[in-house]
Amino acid sequence: MIRIDDLALKDERLVHRPLVGAMARVQGHMTDFKECARAYYFEVVLSPHQCPGCGGRLRMTGLSQCSCACGRAFDPTLEFQRSPCCGAKLVRQTYHYACSRCHEVVPSHFLFDERVFDKEYFREMMQEHRRRARQEREEIKRFLTESRSGTLLLTEEPHLELLDGFVQDLDAFIQIHQDIPDDSGFEAKSTFSMDRYRSHILSCLPTEGVRFSDIAQVDEDIRRDKAWRFITLVFMQNDRVVDLVQEGDNIWVQRLQNEAHA
Ligand SMILES: [Zn+2]
Ligand SMILES: [Zn+2]
Repeated sequence: MIRIDDLALKDERLVHRPLVGAMARVQGHMTDFKECARAYYFEVVLSPHQCPGCGGRLRMTGLSQCSCACGRAFDPTLEFQRSPCCGAKLVRQTYHYACSRCHEVVPSHFLFDERVFDKEYFREMMQEHRRRARQEREEIKRFLTESRSGTLLLTEEPHLELLDGFVQDLDAFIQIHQDIPDDSGFEAKSTFSMDRYRSHILSCLPTEGVRFSDIAQVDEDIRRDKAWRFITLVFMQNDRVVDLVQEGDNIWVQRLQNEAHA
């Protein structure tokens, strides 16, 4: 979202426009209102709970952290919330909380318009991504340099027909990239289209992420579908559109918004 003060900074003339000034004030009020709503929300959700150490009142003091005047600070989701499925304690995963018994995703009551976010982990993952991407770029560059042929001097017009089967191969190659309509027959369905899988995954990938097994099936063959979904995700991870995190025998698929738009 473009903030009004960013706009104003970029273009001084905007400051003197009454509508823009009014909008900036409205935005300021909205921010204050959200802050009040947030404070009130936490007061309400923390009110039934006391500090396990001294029985004192708790205050929210950070993301997923509440504190007591006695100095005790802890994650209220882990301390107070139980999973609706098994009534068990929750465990904190990289991007969400889950039932400690069946690993079902459980939304935290102690988050207001924010997500569970392991900053340190994310920072490390991003560094690792960048390092890998840099290494891949360097390897491709090296590969291309090594495999470069000498200068080709054409003395006459090239005739594609001279190469046996070349034109047919070209046609077949181009067909791979043609979009396959959803109502196509069996033959077309058994052809892997990464574009099709990619747009399918993006269409059903919520901002808070999704488990690999919860992504709807595209191909009728379960095993083939799993393999193609996985291959597509690996490529998407490579393009830094998603992040994949192993969670037991499942994979957590996280959308990387900033990176994807970068
Ligand atoms: Zn206390
Ligand atoms: Zn459970």
